[in-house]
Amino acid sequence: MIFGNGRPVFSGIAIGKAYVYKKQLATLPVSCGDPAVEQQKFEAAKQTALEQLQTLMQDAAERLGEEQAMILDVQMMMLDDLDYLESIEAMIQNGASAAQAVKETGDTFAAAFSAMDDAYMQARATDVQDISTRVVTILCNGKVGFSMEEPGILIAEDLTPSETVQMPKDKILAFVTRQGSSNSHTAILARIMGIPSLVKTQINLEEDLDGKMMIVDGFDGCYYIDPDEETLAKMQEKKRTADEYQRQLENYRGKESVTPHGQKIKLYANIGSPADVEHVLKGDAEGVGLLRSEFLYLGRDTYPTEDELFNAYRKVVEGLEGRRVVIRTLDIGADKQADYFELDKEENPALGLRGARICLRRPEVFRTQMRSIYRASALGPVSVMFPMIASVWEVRKLKEMCEQIREEMKQEGIEIGEVEHGIMIETPAAAVISDLLAEEVDFFSVGTNDLTQYTLAVDRQNPSLDGFDDPHHPALIRLLGMIAQNAHKAGIWCGICGELAADLTMTDTFLEMGYDELSVSPTRVLQLRKKVCESEVIVK
Ligand code: PEP
Ligand code: MG
Repeated sequence: MIFGNGRPVFSGIAIGKAYVYKKQLATLPVSCGDPAVEQQKFEAAKQTALEQLQTLMQDAAERLGEEQAMILDVQMMMLDDLDYLESIEAMIQNGASAAQAVKETGDTFAAAFSAMDDAYMQARATDVQDISTRVVTILCNGKVGFSMEEPGILIAEDLTPSETVQMPKDKILAFVTRQGSSNSHTAILARIMGIPSLVKTQINLEEDLDGKMMIVDGFDGCYYIDPDEETLAKMQEKKRTADEYQRQLENYRGKESVTPHGQKIKLYANIGSPADVEHVLKGDAEGVGLLRSEFLYLGRDTYPTEDELFNAYRKVVEGLEGRRVVIRTLDIGADKQADYFELDKEENPALGLRGARICLRRPEVFRTQMRSIYRASALGPVSVMFPMIASVWEVRKLKEMCEQIREEMKQEGIEIGEVEHGIMIETPAAAVISDLLAEEVDFFSVGTNDLTQYTLAVDRQNPSLDGFDDPHHPALIRLLGMIAQNAHKAGIWCGICGELAADLTMTDTFLEMGYDELSVSPTRVLQLRKKVCESEVIVK
């Protein structure tokens, strides 16, 4: 039996056959001796790659949303990049085969991207490697592909965006990768698909693992290959318990989220793109409490237009069939960078120009987004909230800008619905003056991820600070209680949309504090509803 650990990105137990995914690179052929022939081979392979990507893009747009499809679009553009093409041509002229030239160029470009400071550019290393591998594979042995005859566990070094898009998802019981992070493409996909998965494992891809029996324990972050009978029996029992729990949760589908003593709370979902609406419905969330709209701005080279944004919001509003969506205006900055914003490099980006601060400095960007949100509000219930608020003047200024935008749209005869305007409480300053802020807005949504970071002075991106980032710290609990009290004194509702909202050990505390809404990832709504429905909290 082989045993190993990894970082779990979604809980659950998967038991099935192992399928090892290896990048299909044969030994590269040498040049036929005529650079002109090699150049022609490259041109033909490039054309095939473009056609494959075009098909994949259509498929991805339908099944996974336009955001994922955009990643493939970036790769198509790379195949037309002049520097990239010139490098390949030069190598072919110097005697390399088409495959050698593409492989070499892909490696060189990927290394250059990886060495850049900018996180967006670093991520492009995967894209250039991915597209180069595709062309080389075409040059070596035909099509890129991978199939699974029966459901199983997919093991890989890492999966690039275009690889995940073309995986047979209906057959994948779990992902296990050697690389990746909690926010890697594979991890995001695993969470959306709701399958147990591990990243950052030490699994040895050189061993002959294909077809072997494998177990992934997404609760404890470990895997077993060729398990002994005792382990298999133990894991089968654990899986039965987990499946039974899931079945019990189904009893809460369609139920009201209300305690036995009659206290109601709304259970909403956090999403990042229109494609996630499907999971909101599957998870039985009562609405969307946080649409992280910055994802519409990431992974592209230019600002999205008003129509592009409107179309994305329209899809969400229509898909939710009458459920409310709280759209957060763009929270670019800190860890979410988009180069075309051309933000200055900062010493401390988490304390820098991010969230609503960008909207205050770039009114045109804010205006485009607000117009698209207001247009979508004519189609269904929409609320909007502003992130990273610290002062009353910021809220007043944003409201004033909103008022002007609505006025201008009214003049143009554009229909706007009833829109609630709220703010995220995610800085200690906003929590402390929440009594004053409550006078200005329709609701609060507490971002406990950032509120923890800023209150405890613990960088949320720094894994070496594990243990210091205690979201149960008494300072945070006091702030959370104070925020709810101040909201209710002013007669507005308040919710929590940070990760802490899904912490079942905190549900009773949130009910006692009187929170009106909790917004969590779609796959966690039913378990939270069960907890609420069984709560013994009595609020006097
Ligand atoms: C938060 O800070 O808790 C939050 C919900 O926002 P984000 O995680 O996107 O910063
Ligand atoms: Mg935040």
